[in-house]
Amino acid sequence: GKRFEGKVAIVTGAGSGIGEATARAFVAEGAGVVLVDSVEEKVRDVADSLPTAQALWLQADVADADAWQTVVDAAIDRWDRLDVLVNNAGTFTSGDITDISPDEWRRVVETDLSSVFYGTRAALPFLRETRGSIVNTSSVSGEAADWRMSPYNAAKGGVSNFTKAAALDNGGFGVRVNAVAPGLIWTDLTQSQAEDEELKREFSERIALGRGGRSEEVAAAVLFLASDEASFITGAILPVDGGTMAS
Ligand code: NAD
Repeated sequence: GKRFEGKVAIVTGAGSGIGEATARAFVAEGAGVVLVDSVEEKVRDVADSLPTAQALWLQADVADADAWQTVVDAAIDRWDRLDVLVNNAGTFTSGDITDISPDEWRRVVETDLSSVFYGTRAALPFLRETRGSIVNTSSVSGEAADWRMSPYNAAKGGVSNFTKAAALDNGGFGVRVNAVAPGLIWTDLTQSQAEDEELKREFSERIALGRGGRSEEVAAAVLFLASDEASFITGAILPVDGGTMAS
């Protein structure tokens, strides 16, 4: 049988990359999915390619705390339940610390980290009713630092430890909270690197499996963590990185 028949999931950043692949995977496993993205045209296109009975799209900025009530209400109004929240939307910046403005810092921290708190806070009352689960998209950049990526490293480090904190506080409600920590995955976010053959080779040499990953390979891990197969897993940060973190 399908693993998420009768279940309902919210997936953020569903207009592209890992979020799109995750939304598609949940639908393939029978779930009803609320696809959320800040770019309307992208998320509408993805949702339009899915069965209407199982997909609902919503344009929203995950860094806007107030928008989250609308997001959660969309799931409840349509399907009257919520089983899974995937906090995946994220953004990125790079540069020397002295070149990063406070506004740029806030943009990354709000989008990548505060959004996870806002979403978790809005969804928990409903997830506690279904004994559901949350899966956050952290990063290998949340476990170790990279050169010239300090706001992203700070935000993703926050996502990983917030995941553990939320797991502790919600175990008693039967709600599990986990994260995936992707390594290099070829998406729009990393497109510029894919075009640079030299850089691509240099990156791949640091990955045990010798290549970047596909969004579907991250989606598979997200679905596992959200599924009953992972019933005794909470507070875990699962690397999906071809062995990057092994060294
Ligand atoms: P992507 O750019 O392909 O997709 C991200 C989606 O999120 C886009 O559709 C974008 O419009 C949306 N988004 C951005 N800001 C938003 C906001 N404020 N509100 C709502 N939606 C917003 O990127 P991706 O590679 O699929 O990244 C998804 C997640 O995976 C991010 O959290 C990213 O940090 C993380 N990640 C990616 C990689 C990688 O190598 N690609 C590695 C580790 C972690």
